[in-house]
Amino acid sequence: MAQTHILGYPRIGAGRELKKAQEAYWRGEISQQELLAVGAEIRRGNWQAQRDAGLDLVTVGDFAWYDQVLNHTLLFGAVPARFRQGAADNKLDQYFRVARGRAPSGEPVAASAMTKWFDTNYHYLVPEFAAEQQFALDSDWLLDEVREAQALGHSPKPVVIGPLTYLWLGRAQGEALALLPQLLPCYEQLLQQLADTGVEWVQIDEPILGLDLPSEWRDAFADTYRGIRAAAPSLKLLLATYFSPLRENLPLAFDLPVDGVHIDCVRAPEELPAAVAALRQEQVLSVGVLNGRNVWRADLARWQRELKPRADQLGERLWLSASCSLLHCPVDLDTETKLPAVQLQKLAYSRQKLAELQQLQALLLGDIATADTAADSPLTDKAVIAELQDTWRPQSYTERAPLQRNRWQLPLLPTTTIGSFPQTDLLRQVRRQFRSGEISEQDYLDHLRAEIAEAIRRQEIIGLDVLVHGEAERNDMVEYFGEQLDGFVHTGNGWVQSYGSRCVKPPIIFGDISRPQPMTVEWSRYAQSLTSKPVKGMLTGPVTILNWSFPREDIPRSESCLQIAKALRREVLDLEAAGIGIIQIDEPALREGVPLRQAEHQGYFDWAVACFRYTCSQVKAETQIHTHMCYSNFNAIMDAIVALDADVITIESARSDLQLLRVFSQGERAGKNGGYPNEMGPGIYDIHSPNVPERLELVARLRKIAEVIPLEKLWVNPDCGLKTRSWAEVGTSLLNMVEAARTVRAEL
Ligand code: GLN
Ligand code: ZN
Repeated sequence: MAQTHILGYPRIGAGRELKKAQEAYWRGEISQQELLAVGAEIRRGNWQAQRDAGLDLVTVGDFAWYDQVLNHTLLFGAVPARFRQGAADNKLDQYFRVARGRAPSGEPVAASAMTKWFDTNYHYLVPEFAAEQQFALDSDWLLDEVREAQALGHSPKPVVIGPLTYLWLGRAQGEALALLPQLLPCYEQLLQQLADTGVEWVQIDEPILGLDLPSEWRDAFADTYRGIRAAAPSLKLLLATYFSPLRENLPLAFDLPVDGVHIDCVRAPEELPAAVAALRQEQVLSVGVLNGRNVWRADLARWQRELKPRADQLGERLWLSASCSLLHCPVDLDTETKLPAVQLQKLAYSRQKLAELQQLQALLLGDIATADTAADSPLTDKAVIAELQDTWRPQSYTERAPLQRNRWQLPLLPTTTIGSFPQTDLLRQVRRQFRSGEISEQDYLDHLRAEIAEAIRRQEIIGLDVLVHGEAERNDMVEYFGEQLDGFVHTGNGWVQSYGSRCVKPPIIFGDISRPQPMTVEWSRYAQSLTSKPVKGMLTGPVTILNWSFPREDIPRSESCLQIAKALRREVLDLEAAGIGIIQIDEPALREGVPLRQAEHQGYFDWAVACFRYTCSQVKAETQIHTHMCYSNFNAIMDAIVALDADVITIESARSDLQLLRVFSQGERAGKNGGYPNEMGPGIYDIHSPNVPERLELVARLRKIAEVIPLEKLWVNPDCGLKTRSWAEVGTSLLNMVEAARTVRAEL
């Protein structure tokens, strides 16, 4: 009979207990003891859920006080020196200092960088390796959790990130791979210790096997795993891969001296036959058939059909699982009180996926169910791309720019902001009161209008050139549009960890998307009525709305993206008709949708970029389209950024050096792709920090930027939206920014 297991379970708790406890601990409201007890209770519940669903093994080591990669940094004694202060025995506070720069004990210090975990919206803490990095195993936390599970009567399968993936994820002074010989003894020792606890299986995650790996990295696998194998001959090793097809790395993965391999059959169902063929006699094959990154119930009849012959052939050597850790899926649908039964029926959160594994296991013992009736064949990416042909604006940027200059009469180095202004406690409180019915819709709308009027008044005093309404009506840039568009469902408790204690609740794309009525026009029109300066309209782009939602599985993502683009195009035209002549369409999530394999990049950009252009290809030449992205590494996607053909792009750059701007600069100083041909606003200060930038500091920065970006194409703005800041910070920062622009203008 096929076995069942999972690669990992969400650790936030069904009611976000971990978040609440973490934040209470950081505020000094609960003791470390109380925090530890909350974690132990979550682990106990998670293991019990796996046990209740009849899983053969429970997964241990997937819990983290902040992040699983940071867990490994502690495990291998690789915490950088600046965090090792305060009481040596207060390891948890040291851990929180790495993550957030501060902890209840010890001195504040600059936190480690965070970045996205493969192509997910989960952020991990990037390991920082010193030139002569040493490692020393510190495995207490993991061994304690293994014993904790054993004491509760479970058969634990510990999970660790593999050595090559761990090094790949870090930032080294030199080549990270060169640190492998120093790191491997830790793994060998760890596996011996795990063997001593009596566990049978250890899961080692090497998701980088799904990437286009440089040959030195591929070549390192064989010796690495031979060493690991030899260190703990009695232990069984399951090599886990996910998020991407293995392709050229498939033979390598199965050739390693491991006792089993997990493959992601959701992302790469086509690799199942090759995996079965490559499987050695003594190996198990773990198939990830339930989507660990989405909320839909699985098509168990399909998997019964596809896996039945495999199950008959492999018996106990076939393991059933979800595609990846369930970290990326909400916890328990039973806590979902807001949704009607017709919707609930179609969904499965993590706990329901455990039950699905059990059902699939049972189905594979029985006879094959009668085949489902074939569904309507959905549009393919190709059909969507064909429908998207000719999305370019009729005039090129060089033709549009003089018309826009003429219309707006902006000074050189025009100043603007990215969209949102502070979401004050009062605003949040009023929104809560409206949602709970304490105040009427009229009162709520009146309050929003007052917020907008105040934002306009302040921007005029500060002296900005292009104003925004401030986004008081939105608490989230995707949820707001999802709530206005037909086709989205908003859950009450569909939380997924984004990083640390931060969780997000992505809407679910439940059906075809359309726009029943204008979404932002009244707010922009009202703001524009209060000022003679131009007010920039503010929309979230189609790719970002798609990438920050749970997508449908019955049609390609490109098709939902096109539907969103169609709705947004109508909004853009309505804004234009209402007199809004500058419109910003944010695409901060364009990059995270980029497939992990180079071979698929073009296919994604073909529809994603065209969908963006589609939203604004019908506006007049003198209407100015802006876009915004809040990251700074554009190297790999520069062609796509250029192809968006926005008149102005604002980007994050304050925390990165000028290297970034070189990528954008043109002419003699052009980046390798020829630079960015239109206008751009590299953020000149970091909005993530509470520090107020000084005028002179901004002047210096602007002068530097002006050396690489042509003046007539340069805008002056902060890094990102200001909603998380206070008005006190924002007022002074923007005043200094406007003054800095004036100073530099005067020098010209
Ligand atoms: N317009 C949005 C804002 O200012 C952009 C946010 C983002 O890029 N993440 O808040
Ligand atoms: Zn941003």
